[in-house]
Amino acid sequence: MINAEVKKKFRAIVGDEYALDSDLDRFGYSYDSSFVPLVPANNPDMVVRPLTTEQVAAVMAIADEHGIPVTPRGAASGRTGGSVPLMGGISLSLDRMTNILELDEKNMMVTAEAGVRTIDLYNHCAAKNLFFPPDPASWKMSTIGGNVAENAGGMRAVKYGVTGDYVMGLQVVLADGTVVNTGGKAVKNVTGYDLTSLFVGSEGTLGIVTRALFKLIPMPKTRGTIRLMFGSLDAGCETVNRLLQENIVPAAAEIMDKTSLDAVARKRSAAFDPAVESCVILETDGEDQAALDAQAKRIAAVARECGVLEFQVAQSQAESDELWAIRRTMSSAVAALAPNRIGEDISVPRSAFPEVVKRIKAISEKHGLTIAVFGHAGDGNLHPSILCDLNNPEEAERAHHAADDIFAAALAVGGTLSGEHGIGITKKPYIYKALGEAGVKLMQSVKQSLDPKGILNPGKIW
Ligand SMILES: Cc1cc2nc3c(=O)[nH]c(=O)nc-3n(C[C@H](O)[C@H](O)[C@H](O)COP(=O)(O)OP(=O)(O)OC[C@H]3O[C@@H](n4cnc5c(N)ncnc54)[C@H](O)[C@@H]3O)c2cc1C
Repeated sequence: MINAEVKKKFRAIVGDEYALDSDLDRFGYSYDSSFVPLVPANNPDMVVRPLTTEQVAAVMAIADEHGIPVTPRGAASGRTGGSVPLMGGISLSLDRMTNILELDEKNMMVTAEAGVRTIDLYNHCAAKNLFFPPDPASWKMSTIGGNVAENAGGMRAVKYGVTGDYVMGLQVVLADGTVVNTGGKAVKNVTGYDLTSLFVGSEGTLGIVTRALFKLIPMPKTRGTIRLMFGSLDAGCETVNRLLQENIVPAAAEIMDKTSLDAVARKRSAAFDPAVESCVILETDGEDQAALDAQAKRIAAVARECGVLEFQVAQSQAESDELWAIRRTMSSAVAALAPNRIGEDISVPRSAFPEVVKRIKAISEKHGLTIAVFGHAGDGNLHPSILCDLNNPEEAERAHHAADDIFAAALAVGGTLSGEHGIGITKKPYIYKALGEAGVKLMQSVKQSLDPKGILNPGKIW
């Protein structure tokens, strides 16, 4: 519990209006977009919403002095419970820090505060024909601070990479309130350790990101959409792999299995050919329409060799929207199949994609639960969705065992626990299996040196 005297100090820093401790406010900051249960124990003692880095630093100095846990929070769209305050203390919300500070067109870089929404940063840059590629599906809500903390990816990761690939520098407030600036605009930089990368993906456990400098690239001039239907999931995966091997790199390559497609068909009152077992949707981009047409021809040739059943190139924006609607409605369509959906996020070597999907189908049969599989075929990142009723204790147990088996399958084929959602709370039990004792120990020693009192996002990752 934070005593009244200390609460007063927080209020003095951010103003009464932005230091909240009513039951309703505390409840409102106790959950995120994961399945971490809603329990009063996860209410923070206080919600603090600073406006500037100086205020964040002052808040952290007091938290450090009194040993108060601090859970950073962006838009709470995280899927693994990262912004759930497990140990009370402060929920430190960066949502008021929404300034885009500089768009440096010459160097093609942008500096923004942590609370800027991904889509706002994208649009701001796009207005100058500059492209900020990291595109988590949550981009209308997720903040760039959250994206940096989770190293968020998106559909375009196959060609353009993930958030971390664009971070040139960060402003970070450390556990004791010290402000550090890492990296900078120099493209090559080997002055000391790469602290920028250390903070990327650290899930708010090493410092509070208050500002980020990202590099940008020129906006592609044209985009195209292609939908491919296959008689097996293997054929879909094989096509994507072959395209990449032949240096035909789509901007996005999404794959969906039959369960997912049936769910979409039901939701959209549409029908797919019953022979179809998987669907791949590609986004292509390039300099002009001729380049896209040439690319589409090469893609068609590879797909034919892999036995494609249907090949459709969108001829207009409306057609493109229609093809992407399949992918966009996927999550909600699959979720509608059962009272609950446990959506996982594993990542495997691209070549192991068909094998891990086979294993997931076997896990589905073993536990008597439907598991829909869709994901980013281009980078081996899958989202198996376990459909279940968590209010039925016996079924809930089976679902959790199925999740255990899915993680084991990912590790067995050389993959990892998370491609983009991080570890947070929900994947903690598996961290030793993934990293080994020595790996966890090394990470804990980094944590210990940056946050000796363990006040930054306690209870996360391990
Ligand atoms: C519908 C939906 C679709 C999604 N699609 C994708 C996707 O395609 N790709 C993907 O990668 N993720 C996806 N996500 C997950 C989520 O949106 C991302 O993890 C996102 O980056 C989280 O951003 P946020 O601002 O909501 O952070 P939060 O959820 O608030 O926080 C996430 C973590 O970051 C920490 N944190 C937040 N801000 C800071 C900061 N300024 N400094 C330090 N630590 C901080 C928090 O403590 C927490 O550990 C999706 C989520 C939803 C609900």
